[in-house]
Amino acid sequence: MILLKNCFALYPDPADPHCTPLRGVDVLIQDNLISRIGEDLGLPEGGEGNDSDRSGPYPGGSDAARTIDASRCVVVPGFVNTHHHFYQVLTRNIPAVQNAKLFPWLVYLYEVWKNIDEEAVLVSSQVAMGELAKTGCTCTTDHHYLYPRGFAADLMGLQFEAADRIGMRFSPTRGSMSLSKKDGGLPPDSVVQTEEQILADSRRVIERYHDPDPLAMRKVILAPCSPFSVSKELMVETARLARSYDVRLHTHLAETRDEDAYCLRTHGKRPLKLMEEWEFVGQDVSYAHGIHFTDEELEVLKRSGTAVCHCPSSNMRLGSGIARVKEMLERGITVSLAVDGSASNDASDFLGEMRQALFLQRVRYGADAITAAQVFALATANGLKILNFSKLGKIEQDWGADLSLFDVHKLEYAGALSDPLAALLFAGINHQSACTIINGRIVVEQGRLVGVDEGELTEKANRIAARIQSTQ
Ligand SMILES: [Zn+2]
Repeated sequence: MILLKNCFALYPDPADPHCTPLRGVDVLIQDNLISRIGEDLGLPEGGEGNDSDRSGPYPGGSDAARTIDASRCVVVPGFVNTHHHFYQVLTRNIPAVQNAKLFPWLVYLYEVWKNIDEEAVLVSSQVAMGELAKTGCTCTTDHHYLYPRGFAADLMGLQFEAADRIGMRFSPTRGSMSLSKKDGGLPPDSVVQTEEQILADSRRVIERYHDPDPLAMRKVILAPCSPFSVSKELMVETARLARSYDVRLHTHLAETRDEDAYCLRTHGKRPLKLMEEWEFVGQDVSYAHGIHFTDEELEVLKRSGTAVCHCPSSNMRLGSGIARVKEMLERGITVSLAVDGSASNDASDFLGEMRQALFLQRVRYGADAITAAQVFALATANGLKILNFSKLGKIEQDWGADLSLFDVHKLEYAGALSDPLAALLFAGINHQSACTIINGRIVVEQGRLVGVDEGELTEKANRIAARIQSTQ
């Protein structure tokens, strides 16, 4: 049980442009739900507690009641990250590809990534989710498509273990690559699987891990990597398999001009046309990036209900282009936000990504291109729609208790509090939440992960990164 006292400014639905903040209210969280919002709330009988009452290590176990002073904080629904590659934490900022565009960047890094092992997956997943939680994100996916030859462990199981250690609500994708260089694809043989292996494991992870509950901590998505690393048959079979279980679909699309050229050269068609023919469009489908769509293709997205996961930092980092988010939103296309993999961002700073989204559209379309409320919609409601969580994204009674608190009574926000919500995007020098609550549990407190030794985790990640990079 958690009682947030005296919130400075609570936004029940920051995606709503007319949302006005509630001032001085309290929020009572019981189990994994928001149970009451009002003034002068107290903990129910027998629920009184303080820091010394904390029982058991966080996260997990039965947490004793806690009262949190929110009088310095903007309180918002937790953010939702809709595209990532956690393992790339271990290959951030490598000088050889700091200035490379996507295809040469991939070709170089595949040779490093083929060295990832169980420990690398477990540790990198914790680091990435830790960064996300510390910057206000409460629900994330991951797109793991790299299964090095000889990797025998349950990869998604390791990622769920990492999510449990952090306390993150997690909906990973079962990614895949089946076309290696010898088949005309981009990756080397050592990191691709056969289509039989991929489909069998896709079915296994759905049956083992997918929970359709609107407040699930575990959901599964299927996600062939891209049109240049899988075959038509795999894409079609994956789409059919996902739909037979009512799980979502995801892939990379329209990220670069090189991808357009590859698809035209190899298949004689543009990427979205291929997706239409390969049954990979629809309300259950989202594409990471979606930069190079034509006007006609935007209409296809609109008609089919296909969504786009916008990754502004990665698009800038790799020089891929500026997605037409403003025009997509005007057409009613669902657009969410994502940090993308840690080797092309190279941070999992979610609030920072929101600031990038606000500014990048303005580079293309001018100062009125996108509002703070629209960025919050990308970061909350739209992401949840794509990941299929219907009872998250608002701070309302009986909704899921995923919230982020940001202390705005600090030097860097001085003078910016005429609009406390937008201050999170326009001002600030570090994007860390004061407190992040996921599924009714405190995952970040006073800017630190709860129940995780950040120093130890950092050292481990650096050790593994050095090993992986040296055995290239
Ligand atoms: Zn990606």
